[in-house]
Amino acid sequence: MTRIDGTMRGVHWATTSPEPAFVAKPVNRRTDYDIAVVGAGFCGLSIALHAATAGAAVVVVEAGTVGCGASGRNGGIVVPHFPGAMTPDDAVMQLGRTKGEALAELVAGGPGFVFDHVRALGIDCEAEQNGWLQPAHSPASLKKVRRVYQSWQARGVDVEWLDGADVAALTGAQGYVGGWFRNTGGTVNPYALALGLARVAAARGADIRQNAPVIGIRSEGAVRVLNTAQGEIRARKVVIATNAHTPALYPGLESSVIPVLLYHGFTRPMRDDERSAILPTRACFTDLRKSGGFARYNSENRLIMGGAIFRPSDQRAWSERHSRRRLTELFPQLSDLQAESFWTGWCALTNEALPAVQRLEKDVYSLIGFSTRGVALAQTLGREMAAFLCESRTEAELPVRVGGIRKIALQPLKRFLGGFAFPIYQLRDSLGLT
Ligand SMILES: Cc1cc2nc3c(=O)[nH]c(=O)nc-3n(C[C@H](O)[C@H](O)[C@H](O)COP(=O)(O)OP(=O)(O)OC[C@H]3O[C@@H](n4cnc5c(N)ncnc54)[C@H](O)[C@@H]3O)c2cc1C
Repeated sequence: MTRIDGTMRGVHWATTSPEPAFVAKPVNRRTDYDIAVVGAGFCGLSIALHAATAGAAVVVVEAGTVGCGASGRNGGIVVPHFPGAMTPDDAVMQLGRTKGEALAELVAGGPGFVFDHVRALGIDCEAEQNGWLQPAHSPASLKKVRRVYQSWQARGVDVEWLDGADVAALTGAQGYVGGWFRNTGGTVNPYALALGLARVAAARGADIRQNAPVIGIRSEGAVRVLNTAQGEIRARKVVIATNAHTPALYPGLESSVIPVLLYHGFTRPMRDDERSAILPTRACFTDLRKSGGFARYNSENRLIMGGAIFRPSDQRAWSERHSRRRLTELFPQLSDLQAESFWTGWCALTNEALPAVQRLEKDVYSLIGFSTRGVALAQTLGREMAAFLCESRTEAELPVRVGGIRKIALQPLKRFLGGFAFPIYQLRDSLGLT
């Protein structure tokens, strides 16, 4: 089981969040609900917010505190693209034309939805929509990045091709040979965003219960009963939105994702003279390096650091060394960097790097597997899932696969080996193979 820490200790986002910590309003409490959502991350909160807005009686049951999973711990980069080098054409190959094109549209429109939504809801999450780019760090990645660009362009999406000099001007980073840019991308304080979504969902009637791990789900006729640390909760429909944290909650569900432990930290704040050269327009970027190549500012002008954890001990020192090397490779003028904060979070990967709806039994579903793109996608798919649960969308209209549990072959072995993959990724990156 992956660890759930509701305290947010060490997570820098929590120290700067303009949104206050979420406090539940018992006034919303009842004994039975239309919809019970397990997990208060972006996915669960988005389902709750949209279902409550549509008039459903909704309860969210969270083991820790709102946003304490990946949603409050991620890099906060809001990306108008699939993970890595996956193209819209690849999504169509996997899902078929109708669902694949619908998902591509959802992904392309994700940041637009997120930024419009936070403005409309009055959520103060340090949102900055200054664009996102996917630069190429090697000749091999240039080919992949160009394929991605062409696949979006063929769909009429407003993407801009950049040569090496354009990328250098936009990022101030060294070593990139080209890339593509979309102005809808940007950054948020993800923890503040989760708190804001919870605040608005509760104001619209959703009952959000914290520190209430769900330890089992059973059926009594047409009613689903959630067994929680705070007693039983009854609902007509249940959706599990627990990301990588899918322990014994539902038999077999854990085998549908590979949880990967990632870390983040922040540098000291950059000075004005440094900021005029590094990310001068405050655009953010994510490249195709398997061992992480990305940059963004937070509201204090600190640069983000990050990667995957692979060592069982000495994690912070090793991780800092790796991300310091990467940042100084990108911005050689920053030779004095230390991480001034450090925290970790679990990310859920699937074989196809796409989420799916798993129908566990009648009226019990899971929606997990957002990989490293969940800031926008968990919210937009959460909105679609809410429409489905409220019966204004059919299963066929959901832009993801819907079916039984999608077991990953040899999952325990892959999970174990995944913990040691990072040094191999570093080597492949340094040899220009990615
Ligand atoms: C370090 C890191 C960096 C990332 N960076 C980015 C990024 O920059 N951009 C991007 O788009 N994506 C990024 N991601 C991915 C993104 O954070 C996730 O895809 C997204 O937050 C998933 O949201 P979720 O709601 O599905 O899961 P979570 O936010 O993990 O929420 C699941 C919740 O379920 C709760 N839970 C688990 N089990 C139970 C139980 N039995 N009972 C009750 N509650 C339970 C957990 O406590 C948790 O709060 C990153 C992820 C990590 C870890």
